[in-house]
Amino acid sequence: MNSPKRPVIDVTAKCACGAVEMSVRGPVVSMLMCSCFDCQRATGSGHSSVALVPVAALSSDGASKSFDRPSDSGATFTRHFCPQCGTPLYGQSSRAPDIRMISVGFFAGQNDWFAPNQLIFARSQQAWDLVADHLPRHDTYRENQPR
Ligand SMILES: [Zn+2]
Ligand SMILES: [Zn+2]
Repeated sequence: MNSPKRPVIDVTAKCACGAVEMSVRGPVVSMLMCSCFDCQRATGSGHSSVALVPVAALSSDGASKSFDRPSDSGATFTRHFCPQCGTPLYGQSSRAPDIRMISVGFFAGQNDWFAPNQLIFARSQQAWDLVADHLPRHDTYRENQPR
């Protein structure tokens, strides 16, 4: 079964400099966009595009670095990136240790399966950052969402 809502993916890519290779093999649990200020800073754009996958679906090779910050929910949110070229890899929340939040753009050219189902932190979405009108908006987090 490979439904568009929860596709099963098998993708491998390298960061811009090639130091880190990352693979995701398995089911996507959820797909979303986030307009929080941290995602705006981390992506250099209006929102992040993220696929949530089980931790077991992700493997990576090469030394990455990470940065911890407190999230709005009180959890610790950790972003992983390539220390050489800065390419974002994935994030994780202390509240959802079994989930990794993949930066969909890492798989540029192999991410046509991505079909976001919501925009979170819509309260800080900017008018210039166009997001499809039909996407449900949540001011901050959706209920029952890893945060
Ligand atoms: Zn790199
Ligand atoms: Zn965010």
